[in-house]
Amino acid sequence: MVSHIELNKRQEQILQIVKDEGPITGEQIADQLSLTRATLRPDLAILTMAGFLDARPRVGYFYTGKTGSQLLTEKIKKIKVQDFQSMPVVVNEAATVYDAICTMFLEDVGTLFVVDKDAKLVGVVSRKDLLRASMGKQDLASIPLNIIMTRMPNISVCYKEDLLIDVANQLIEKQIDAVPVVKEAENLQGFEVIGRLTKTNITKALVDLAIDEVI
Ligand code: ADP
Repeated sequence: MVSHIELNKRQEQILQIVKDEGPITGEQIADQLSLTRATLRPDLAILTMAGFLDARPRVGYFYTGKTGSQLLTEKIKKIKVQDFQSMPVVVNEAATVYDAICTMFLEDVGTLFVVDKDAKLVGVVSRKDLLRASMGKQDLASIPLNIIMTRMPNISVCYKEDLLIDVANQLIEKQIDAVPVVKEAENLQGFEVIGRLTKTNITKALVDLAIDEVI
């Protein structure tokens, strides 16, 4: 299991006291540890924010009974696509394979989203799609992108309000590296591309979770 929040010795002591004697006030915990209430305040704040303890006015602190992994799961399930998405890189459907290769290098991305003249999503092009197209002897500047792209309705998309973990699952199931973050076009016909969510964004989320001291 992933190791999550590391409690210091004093936080462990507080947790034990609250487990044994809660509900208990901050004052009473401080007395037992022969410390001042002010000294304990940051530790109590951390334990409460992390979800180990809960506090009720005039009642005091009590133990939530949640394990570290339950708390981690709760935290993961709060992460939305919009918290980690990046800017999309789009190309017009009139572009060629050559144009797409140049754009991919210049923009430093692995997936391009293809849009029509009204900026609606019509296709997706990956690195491998471009490599495959380059294997023949044809002039890459004469191959239209829209004959090699993966096209609608076969494109997996997500919305900015979606849970990151659900999109991560989508990437695994479909064996793809990225999905466009879309919103319905104004006339409700098709999608506008407003972002991208890639394996790199998900890796970043994982690292942020791990270095975040408070789960
Ligand atoms: P690569 O092919 O470079 O390994 P991917 O794994 O992302 O990159 O792409 C695999 C195939 O899936 C490609 O043919 C690509 O066009 C297609 N693809 C990529 N992203 C999507 C998506 N969001 N929805 C549908 N198909 C996609």
